[in-house]
Amino acid sequence: MFRVETQESWRSYRAVVLGLLLLCVTALAITLWELYDFAREQVIIEELIRTLPGEDTAPVEFLADELRWQFRLTILVVIHVVLTGIAIAFLARAYRTSQQSLRDIKAHAGDILSSMEQGVITTDLNGIVTSINRRGLEMLRPAGDCVGRSLREVSVHVPLDEFRNQWTIERSSGMTRDFTMKSDDHKTVLRTFCQTLNDVDGAEIGFVLQIRDVTARVLTEDRMLRMERYMGLGSLAAGLHHEIKNPLAALSLHVQLLEEQLERDNSCGEVQGLLRIIKTEMARVGGVLEGFRDFASLGRLNLHPVNIGELIQRQIDLILPQAASQSVDVNVQFSTNLPCDLPVDQVRLEQVLLNIFVNALEAMPGGGRVRIEATAELAHVSVRISDTGPGVSDQLREKIFDPYFTTKSEGTGLGLALCDKIIRQHNGTLDIQPSESGAVFQLILPTSLPN
Ligand code: ADP
Repeated sequence: MFRVETQESWRSYRAVVLGLLLLCVTALAITLWELYDFAREQVIIEELIRTLPGEDTAPVEFLADELRWQFRLTILVVIHVVLTGIAIAFLARAYRTSQQSLRDIKAHAGDILSSMEQGVITTDLNGIVTSINRRGLEMLRPAGDCVGRSLREVSVHVPLDEFRNQWTIERSSGMTRDFTMKSDDHKTVLRTFCQTLNDVDGAEIGFVLQIRDVTARVLTEDRMLRMERYMGLGSLAAGLHHEIKNPLAALSLHVQLLEEQLERDNSCGEVQGLLRIIKTEMARVGGVLEGFRDFASLGRLNLHPVNIGELIQRQIDLILPQAASQSVDVNVQFSTNLPCDLPVDQVRLEQVLLNIFVNALEAMPGGGRVRIEATAELAHVSVRISDTGPGVSDQLREKIFDPYFTTKSEGTGLGLALCDKIIRQHNGTLDIQPSESGAVFQLILPTSLPN
């Protein structure tokens, strides 16, 4: 935090001011005593003048004159001492007021910095922290006080000092760096920016580091990127579907006719077998084409109010036999406030849930546990599906929502791409969450109708 230290300096100045004022009062008292003395001496001299014979009074009158002058001068000294005292009091007051204004300005600057959504850290030229605002403390979570310690010690989880050193070499004004901080169940992306700290004469006295939490922005950028890729692939898929569908239908018809002809001619089993293979392969190509079409179609959602708890439970019931045969434990936890009228396309949402559930089962051929949690907030419903399989590595995390990305020998890689598209059509989000073990998918659906 920014600190304002004025009390200490004022205390030492106050002692000096009080000392000077005391000196003035003492000087005033002594001078007044002097005045009183002069007045008494003048009375005595006047008495002398009256009693002495006329010719002897000349030296005494000279003395009386001297005393009058000294009296006048002492009055001047009194005025001087009084004015000095008043001046000291005024100066002390002005000093206090300027100190107060300085403290207010510093406190105001501190308030502005501590209300900022950005973390702001200042260091001296050697990387020793000179200040850090509230948001900076929240982001870096340092142990103990920060001011006076090196940036390296304060920022243990984020290598800010390395970044500062690199910046001092490159000195590129647009240089920013993203750091990822991982905690138990979530990941935070911090975007940092460095610049020099100059004094009023323009001399370099340190560095200012600004840190922003851009987790949400990075997530949105990722989703936008994913969407752009889909749009390109979507139009390609639409074109392919159109071009291949008709020849495939004709081929299928002719194979059918050929099969019937061969059956009538009682041809050998070997030829029939070969035809079956051709038919199976054609069915597979047809399946891939259907996938293409689903992916490419922007088809409108058929939205109806649905009891979301029941919908999820129906999909869970579908996978229970496969789960039992694989020794996978299915653990379900629904909050009691799940809406009965969530506006969704029932068929497509079932497709999404089933795909994620089946993926989880496929990730655990040797058994494990799937946990399905559904909770409702004011504006959305969240479904979290976690499994105890091998999980998804950081490198693959970016790719699994890409169409045709698969790590399975029999996979199409279209499942999650379609799921993501369907959920986006619902104005919701589908993401894979960071986790210590296994995979955790989170699906969020808004409770109000998408436009
Ligand atoms: P497919 O199932 O045909 O491979 P998907 O799009 O459904 O296609 O999945 C893409 C890839 O994502 C999978 O091949 C797999 O590598 C990964 N994946 C999906 N779900 C899980 C999971 N629960 N655990 C581990 N990996 C998963």
